[in-house]
Amino acid sequence: MTLSDRINSITEPQTIGMARKARELKAKGIDVISLSLGEPDFNTPEPIKLAAKKAIDENFSHYTHVSGYLELRQAIAKKFKRDNNLDFTADQIVVSTGAKQSIANIMLCILNPGDEVLVPAPYWVTYLELVKLAGGIPVVIPSTVENNFKTTPLQIKNAITSKTKAIIFSSPCNPTGSVYTKEELKSLADAIIPHKEMYVISDEIYEHINFVGKHESIAQFPELKERTIVVNGASKGFAMTGWRVGYIGASKDIAQACDKIQGQFTSATCSIGQKAMHAAVDMEVSAIHPMRDAFKKRRDIVYNLLKEIPRVKTNLPDGAFYFFPDVSAYFTPHLNPPQRGGLGTLSSPPLGEIREGVRNSTDLCMYLLDKAHVALVAGDAFGDDNHIRISYAASEEKLIEAMKRIKNALSELK
Ligand code: PLP
Repeated sequence: MTLSDRINSITEPQTIGMARKARELKAKGIDVISLSLGEPDFNTPEPIKLAAKKAIDENFSHYTHVSGYLELRQAIAKKFKRDNNLDFTADQIVVSTGAKQSIANIMLCILNPGDEVLVPAPYWVTYLELVKLAGGIPVVIPSTVENNFKTTPLQIKNAITSKTKAIIFSSPCNPTGSVYTKEELKSLADAIIPHKEMYVISDEIYEHINFVGKHESIAQFPELKERTIVVNGASKGFAMTGWRVGYIGASKDIAQACDKIQGQFTSATCSIGQKAMHAAVDMEVSAIHPMRDAFKKRRDIVYNLLKEIPRVKTNLPDGAFYFFPDVSAYFTPHLNPPQRGGLGTLSSPPLGEIREGVRNSTDLCMYLLDKAHVALVAGDAFGDDNHIRISYAASEEKLIEAMKRIKNALSELK
């Protein structure tokens, strides 16, 4: 049986591959600490669960409008005004099966074969694959830990060609935790505004996990508002990863196009999940501040422990729940291949045991899994092979133990 070129051109998310490997070790009775997955270790807040139970009891069990039932889209429009001062009407909102499907819809709606999408690195793993799946070409823009992983307007200007259709980025960022300030977003907007054919896909899924204050959206700049597609959802801020609900706010044209695609793929997302999302967007945001504050405390713990590990370079993340430290000083110099980070189109070597030394971030993650029994994700998957991603969505106790194990295991590498 031959599969399509399309499916052969994309890779399985490494985050999922590493989690599978960790589960295999756990099944053998090994005490693995998993810091590889991108989801809060908190439970969905009670009012959201109650709304979903009520929806089941009241038989809210039929197909809804493809873009989500009207009152939900109206509530999301209110949320955009309340939290982001953005004006959207209900017909500019499309609710989907997670922000992931929202991004898939967008790519399928805006890209023709050969269209380029700027993807500042480090990026969320899925961006590249969805661009490729839609026939587009990802153009990766590298950054450094020294610059807090921020893309500059000059880099954007230099990367734009006549084929550039869009730019996609997240702030707060997965995997770096970096958060763009209003001034930084304005300077990026100024670089994009003259290119009238270009969309901005602003992934704001970590909006509520922000340690520096108010969330800023690039959609706030009027010249860009019509061309910005804001992606958001409840997975991270409301600990609702399994409910699979996300949404976009966009121009009517884009919303209609996404509705058309989604009408063929899923009809709409689950009606009960929509009711749960409705309760989430109606909730006082302060209700989830204890979760955000817990993440901030853990960030500080991990930061202090990371700083104690020689030769590891890190920034202090301002949001989300990840560190993305540079660990390349632990690679075995004569085995270190040419830098692969930033290319983004090469696939990682298969997960395997370290025999000769550590060549790259995948080898280092495998070494740490085998030796320290800590599951992490190789930076290669996020577009920078000198780094690893540490998710601190785990208890303080586990984080302290994991960092101790990592430090000890690294100290054995020459
Ligand atoms: N965007 C980013 C940056 C993410 O990290 C994730 C999940 O890891 C998503 C989108 C997907 O969110 P959802 O669970 O709503 O599909």
